Amino acid sequence: MQAERFYIGGEWVDPHKPVRFMDVINPATEQCAGRVAIATAQDVDRAVQAAAAAVETWGQTSVAERQDLLRAVLAAYKRRIPQIGEAIKLAMGAPAELAHGAQALSGIQHLKAAIDALQTFDFDEVINQSRILREPVGVCGLITPWNWPANQIACKVAPALAAGCTMVLKPSEVTPFDATYWADCMHEAGVPPGVFNLVQGDGTTGASLSQHPRVDMMSFTGSTRAGVAVSHAAADSVKRVALELGGKSPNIILDDADLDKVVAAGVAACFYNTGQSCNAPTRMLVPEPLMDAAAAIAARTAQQLIVGDPDDSAVFMGPLSSRVQFEKVQRLIQTGIDEGATLISGGPGRPAGLDTGYYAKPTVFANVRNDMTIAQEEIFGPVLCIIGYSSVQDAIAIANDTPYGLSAYVQSGDGQRALAVARQLRAGMVHINGADLDTMAPFGGYKQSGLGREWGPYGIEEFLEVKAVMGAPA
Ligand code: NAD
Repeated sequence: MQAERFYIGGEWVDPHKPVRFMDVINPATEQCAGRVAIATAQDVDRAVQAAAAAVETWGQTSVAERQDLLRAVLAAYKRRIPQIGEAIKLAMGAPAELAHGAQALSGIQHLKAAIDALQTFDFDEVINQSRILREPVGVCGLITPWNWPANQIACKVAPALAAGCTMVLKPSEVTPFDATYWADCMHEAGVPPGVFNLVQGDGTTGASLSQHPRVDMMSFTGSTRAGVAVSHAAADSVKRVALELGGKSPNIILDDADLDKVVAAGVAACFYNTGQSCNAPTRMLVPEPLMDAAAAIAARTAQQLIVGDPDDSAVFMGPLSSRVQFEKVQRLIQTGIDEGATLISGGPGRPAGLDTGYYAKPTVFANVRNDMTIAQEEIFGPVLCIIGYSSVQDAIAIANDTPYGLSAYVQSGDGQRALAVARQLRAGMVHINGADLDTMAPFGGYKQSGLGREWGPYGIEEFLEVKAVMGAPA
C-alpha cells in the first residue's frame, strides 16, 4: 500500500520536492507495508489555500445539498470497506474481524449520524428578539491518531462537511493508508475541489497545520502531549481548538453486581483493540473484600484470550501498533512490578511462540494503589489495574483522582444506584452495566481528556460559529 501522494484541490498531487518518506511497518511482521510521504510546510500551505478557496461557496450550500453529498460519500465508503479494513489491519495489526468490522464499519455509523443529525439541526433560530445563525467556522485542520484511524477521520470529516466547513486532514503517519481510501470516497462522491484535502505526515506536518494563519479551527485527536502542542501552535492566530485526548477510565464494580460477569466483561473491554482505545476501562475498582475473587476471575479471563496473527480468526488480540508502543508498554509493566502491584497474569516480554511482531501479554495487576504510575499514566496497551475501595464514596473519589476524565463505567444490580454514582463522576461519558456507545450522544472528555465533543449533533455544533442578529425581521 502507498501513501506517497496528497489529495489537494480535487486531485492527487505529488509532494513538494525534496520528499521525505517514512516506512509504514506492519506490526504483526515487523516488515515494511508501504511508504508514507511527509508533507512539508509548503505542502500544508498548498492544501490550506485550496480549502480557503472553496470555503465561501461550500459554506453557502443548503442543508439538503450537504445531506445529499454525505449520502454519496456514505455510498462510496461502503464500497471501500474491504480496502479500508485491510489497510487498518496491515498498518496497526488489528485482527481481521475487528479491522473489517468495528474499525472500518464505524465510518458508516458516523456518516449516518451526521446525515440524521442534519435532519433536525437548527442552523437558524429566534431567541427573545434576536435571530441566532449558526455558520460554518471556515477552514479546519483535522489531525487524527492511529488507534481507530477510519473512525476518527469519520468523527471529524462527517460533521465538518455537515457544518459547511472545508478541511485539511492529516492522519497519523502510523496508519496513512485508510485515509487515501477516504480521499477516493470524497472524489467519487463529487465533493467539490478544495472542500476536502489530504496531506500525509508526522508531528512536523501537524505543527505546520496547527500554526497556519489561514486555518480557522483545529480538531485534534491523539495524546494529551500533542494536543497541548497543537493548542500552543494555534494560539498565535486565536484559532478554535477541539481536542479528544487520552483517558484512564475507571470501571466501578458495586457490591451488588454479578462479579463473574462484570469482571470478565471488564477484562475483555480493557484488552479490546489490544488496549489501544482512549476510553478503555483500564482501572477496575472493586470492593476491598472482593479483591481476591475479582483477581482470580480477571486472571482466568486474560489467560483465555488468544493473542496472535491478525489473519487468524480465533485471535482476540493482535500486536501493539508500533515498536514505540511496544517498548512503552513493556516499560510500564516493569514499573508496575517495581512499584509493588501484584502481577496476576501476563507480565513483561512477548507471549510464548510469538517472537516476531510487537505482541504483548494480556497483563493484569491486582492490589494496585491509585497513586501508582500504572494507575495514573495512560499505558495504551493490554494492562489492567485492579484497585480496591472501602466505600462507594471512596470508589468515586478514586475514580475521579486522575488528570483524565474521558469515560467511566459503573456496574450494579440496581440501575438507580449506578446512576447516582454516574452523577458524581468527572467524566464526559458514563456507561451503566455495559451499555454501548451511542453515535448521537456526545463523545469527549473532562479535564485533560479534551475540549469539546464529537459525534452526531454535538459534533456538528463543534464546527459552527454563532452569529446574533439583532433587529432582524421576523
Ligand atoms: P499522538 O498524539 O502521538 O499522535 C496523534 C496525531 O498527532 C498524529 O497524527 C501525529 O502525527 C500528530 N502529532 C504528533 N505530534 C504533533 C504535534 N506536535 N503537532 C501536531 N500534530 C502532532 O497520538 P497517537 O499515539 O497517534 O494516539 C494515541 C493517543 O490518542 C492516546 O493518548 C489516546 O488516548 C488518544 N486518543 C484519544 C481519543 C479521544 O477521542 N479522546 C481517541 C483516540 C485516541
